[in-house]
Amino acid sequence: MLVSAKEMLEKAKAGHYAVGQFNINNLEWTKAILQTAQELNSPVILGVSEGAGKYMAGYKTVVGMVNGMLEELKITVPVALHLDHGGYEACYKCIEAGFSSVMFDGSHYPIEENVEKTKELVKVCAEKGLSLEAEVGSIGGEEDGVVGMGECADPKECKMIADLGVTMLAAGIGNIHGKYPANWQGLSFETLDAIQALTGDMPLVLHGGTGIPADMIKKAINLGVAKINVNTECQLAFAAATREYVEAGKDLQGKGYDPRKLLAPGAEAIKATVKEKMELFGSVGKA
Ligand SMILES: [Zn+2]
Repeated sequence: MLVSAKEMLEKAKAGHYAVGQFNINNLEWTKAILQTAQELNSPVILGVSEGAGKYMAGYKTVVGMVNGMLEELKITVPVALHLDHGGYEACYKCIEAGFSSVMFDGSHYPIEENVEKTKELVKVCAEKGLSLEAEVGSIGGEEDGVVGMGECADPKECKMIADLGVTMLAAGIGNIHGKYPANWQGLSFETLDAIQALTGDMPLVLHGGTGIPADMIKKAINLGVAKINVNTECQLAFAAATREYVEAGKDLQGKGYDPRKLLAPGAEAIKATVKEKMELFGSVGKA
């Protein structure tokens, strides 16, 4: 059964480790992530962007697929199904479809409007037992077509949104989505420290986990990050393994064209990436 991300993140924050959010794109992705979490006895959050939801034929299809897998694959570790960077309407659609967690990305609204809409969603999510992630300050890079810079959030605004009763808070600390440019300045630990000082026990979320050096990840966890989003890294691993298979001509040998064979190396590559991240984040054995 899907669970809210609240308990797993509170435990992570108290225990100084982080739970990975791994974004899913299809059945192979979902299966690889769930199997790895189970194998490593780690809690896990499956992230679904609006674009990926659309690609997978809608949120109800996603909920059906994930719930089916939890049962058929006998997954017993805590799993949350989470809308990633949801707009106001997408949040309601996912709540209705059976997601156990949503992120309302109100970062592009003026702070007053972000506060109003977040307040409303806090109430709805509390009634239905879902966890809610809010974002303050835009997180750089490309988010479903929206490009931002690696900005830093205002700690006072973070405190204001945290006090509304959200479950977890994403704040820009110089992180960006996608691949990091060569001239990236690194994470602003000063900002993170200031945010944690004001928000206390609130689990903080680090978006754009791909390509942040391991020592920075560890430092961020020490400063209160309890959820780290990984998306691009699984995509790159999947693409590289699939490329290797095709370039070796394996799809032309025997029944190598069978999708169950063609997509297998990519799925294995996702598993390896997820394992590496769970080990780095410290969530192994914490289910
Ligand atoms: Zn993000």
